[in-house]
Amino acid sequence: MQEEKICKFQSFASIGSPELGPERLAALQNEITKRGLDGFLIPRSDAYRGEYVAEKDQRLRWLTGFEGSAGICVLVKQRIGIFVDGRYTVQAKNQTCPPIEIINWPKMKVTDWIMEVTNHGKIGFDPWLHSVDEIEQYNRSMENTEIILQTTQNLVDIIWKDQPSAPTAKAFQYEDKFAGVTQSHKRKTLSKELKEKGNSAAVITLPEGIAWLLNMRGGDVEHLPIVQAFAILHSNNEVDIFVDKTKVENLATHFGQGINIYNENEFLQHLKELTGSVCIDKSSLPFAAYQSLIDSKANLDPRGDITALPKACKNEIELSRARDAHLIDAIAMCKFLNWLNSQPLGMLTEIDLVIKLESFRSANPEFYDISFETICASGPNAALPHYRVNYDSNRTIKNGDVILVDSGGQYKSGTTDITRTTALGQVSSEIKRAFTLVLKGMISISKLRFPKGMAGCDLDAFARVFLWSEGLDFAHGTGHGVGQFLSVHEGPQRLSRTSNIPFKAGMIISNEPGFYKEGHFGIRIENLLAITKAPKLENSVIDEMFVFETLNFVPIDKSLIEKGLMSADEIAWLNEYHSECRQKIREYLEPDEKIWLDQATEEIK
Ligand code: ZN
Ligand code: ZN
Repeated sequence: MQEEKICKFQSFASIGSPELGPERLAALQNEITKRGLDGFLIPRSDAYRGEYVAEKDQRLRWLTGFEGSAGICVLVKQRIGIFVDGRYTVQAKNQTCPPIEIINWPKMKVTDWIMEVTNHGKIGFDPWLHSVDEIEQYNRSMENTEIILQTTQNLVDIIWKDQPSAPTAKAFQYEDKFAGVTQSHKRKTLSKELKEKGNSAAVITLPEGIAWLLNMRGGDVEHLPIVQAFAILHSNNEVDIFVDKTKVENLATHFGQGINIYNENEFLQHLKELTGSVCIDKSSLPFAAYQSLIDSKANLDPRGDITALPKACKNEIELSRARDAHLIDAIAMCKFLNWLNSQPLGMLTEIDLVIKLESFRSANPEFYDISFETICASGPNAALPHYRVNYDSNRTIKNGDVILVDSGGQYKSGTTDITRTTALGQVSSEIKRAFTLVLKGMISISKLRFPKGMAGCDLDAFARVFLWSEGLDFAHGTGHGVGQFLSVHEGPQRLSRTSNIPFKAGMIISNEPGFYKEGHFGIRIENLLAITKAPKLENSVIDEMFVFETLNFVPIDKSLIEKGLMSADEIAWLNEYHSECRQKIREYLEPDEKIWLDQATEEIK
């Protein structure tokens, strides 16, 4: 039995109860049969479709034991499949009991598997837990069968006797000094846009969008300061918000005129009363809400979440606050790296590192939460890009191990995300070579100057060409958007070959190429970048161009660089970057930390 180690914001223990799975699944099967159904869908998601769900919505974990952040369990004709992506196949196997079958998604689609099991029958689903897109896709795939998807109450909630209640965290105002623009101004701008496009209203069901629009934050789920709510923005500037009223009663003054507060159970009735052209986002709208809109007199305009783009394009004040947040976070990271580099070999485990890093971040009064569970992976564990350490996987860091730490903080001024890869002792030349190729890609993105209109799909390759030239690559996108004291993964832009959303000034994007050798080691280097207008060049034939402004200032481990692989330009970029790290961070460090920083940022000749 390992000694219990405590983090305030992250747990290392397994909390699911796979041994109770068979009994609970049998009870669920009983409910399915009672209703004349042949199956039921249990997704990991809730009605708000975020990365984190409240305890009340942990139905998949309660039922099966599986604790991953994505997946869906399907019961059909006495077969039970749990669909998880490549990150989670091993974990799902370890955390569940037979007769659950682990199915690799999206290699095998939910509907293809159902059609393998049967070609007829009624499968129930809770219409709050599936988006319109999802259900439409399922229906399309099964249109030539006699399988029918049928809405029903949530059958897991019926058998879950001690199901926790919904979260009740108090909402709070996100002050204008952080948001840069008042909520009434945001409402005015968006409702003007609605009018111009001929819409009478827009339905917003993603809490991040509502939090942004109303300059409001909360604490309903871990690591993401949102208030669970739904909203309708009308073209007359008014917003109807559907929420547990006790959560927002202290916001009356902040809301002022034009924000009407209703209970969540009044949402469907209000949707039914809508008329005119109503803007919806089928990828996030719960199917239950869609059914009410279909029953209304409204025409639906499925052009997406109207808050997504304005939320992604940060204003000048938000950007300046984001720089503040990254400075605070960089100080914690530098203190952590100095501490790590002074530790004796063979003593530390991955969990020790997570606890220490959290303590450095927590020391700052501005720190609110971690922005996601810290990824701290050493040796072969680092080869799993989304590895999360727990008591079973925790390993002692050995001489020559690569250590990958991907972490971030929530500060009122912004959300941070940074990855540094380092090592204790001597590493192999293979590791150094891989590290250098990854670094070259990361620098290449950082230095880009590109025309307006370019999207992730146009730029992603710049992060990979050096790996490609040696037959190597990494199996994730190069970067994701990041919110402002909101989600660490925020759309619509992504730095990925599958993203065609053009970059715009003010967007924040991560730059995080990596390389993973299964069973051996993993490398990733990540900074966040803000997209800014580039100064016009003389004789330029391109009207408008953008450059990236780097936000994180934490040294990159020079001891892992194979200098011979770096060009003079790349070395110059790194020297300049390190000099900025020194200028920005040094004054906030203790004397021994300053010595480390000076050495870590010393110029490469
Ligand atoms: Zn990260
Ligand atoms: Zn990231």
